[in-house]
Amino acid sequence: MRMYDLIAKKRNGETLTEEEIRSMIDGYVMGEIPDYQMSAMLMAIYFKGMSDTETAILTDAVAHSGDMVDLTPIQGIKVDKHSTGGVGDKTTLVVAPIVAACGVKVAKMSGRGLGHTGGTVDKLESIPGMRTTLTEEEFFEVVNTTGLSVIGQSGNLAPGDKKLYALRDVTATVESIPLIAASIMSKKLAAGSDCILLDVKTGSGAFMKTLSDSVTLAEKMVAIGEHAGKKTMALITNMDIPLGNLIGNSLEVIEAVETLKGRGPRI
Ligand code: URA
Repeated sequence: MRMYDLIAKKRNGETLTEEEIRSMIDGYVMGEIPDYQMSAMLMAIYFKGMSDTETAILTDAVAHSGDMVDLTPIQGIKVDKHSTGGVGDKTTLVVAPIVAACGVKVAKMSGRGLGHTGGTVDKLESIPGMRTTLTEEEFFEVVNTTGLSVIGQSGNLAPGDKKLYALRDVTATVESIPLIAASIMSKKLAAGSDCILLDVKTGSGAFMKTLSDSVTLAEKMVAIGEHAGKKTMALITNMDIPLGNLIGNSLEVIEAVETLKGRGPRI
């Protein structure tokens, strides 16, 4: 199977097989497929798209490029949430404690800021002394005793996504719905929770600028999650204006705490 042939196939709008997608991702992660060929493939996907089946296989292949977290030492239903990102988005800091207080286990791995969007781990680290790197045992224990832990992504979670994302970032191929869906969901599937809630932002401050693109992305991600046996739901939320009144890591933590005390902003 030559990468040249796969690029030509996708360039011509044809559908890649499961074997082709898996060998492409394995080859790229192992360094056998060079960046220049993967760049051409990403651009072909950008223009020709991927079917739902191709996207689900790509997601699974990228998820399995590294560790698949096993959350079975945590009792009960484990839930995760993901926001596609925006300005002032501190929803995890508010929603996760509320969900945990209702008795549902939140075992969450969060990322850092991406482009103009902030990251929950950066916000948490603005709390003096806060540690966002825990051993697996510490992570399980914190969730089992408090119902909630939010930590940084482990080094080997979906390494294929890390490599592909860096390449997309410099080849103008970030804004592709199948590539965004596979990127986000590969990390969610690898993180091991039973249920996934997706907060798909729409508007001028979001990756998806139009409602119809946001709905398409949400539907694709829900289909991938369900296909993988996870209960998955999505909300489309407005990112035409920043969320809340305060922006900046420590200010957002303060606003989230105020919100939990019932003194948050109205929008
Ligand atoms: N967030 C991700 O993790 N991946 C994307 O491609 C876009 C947003």
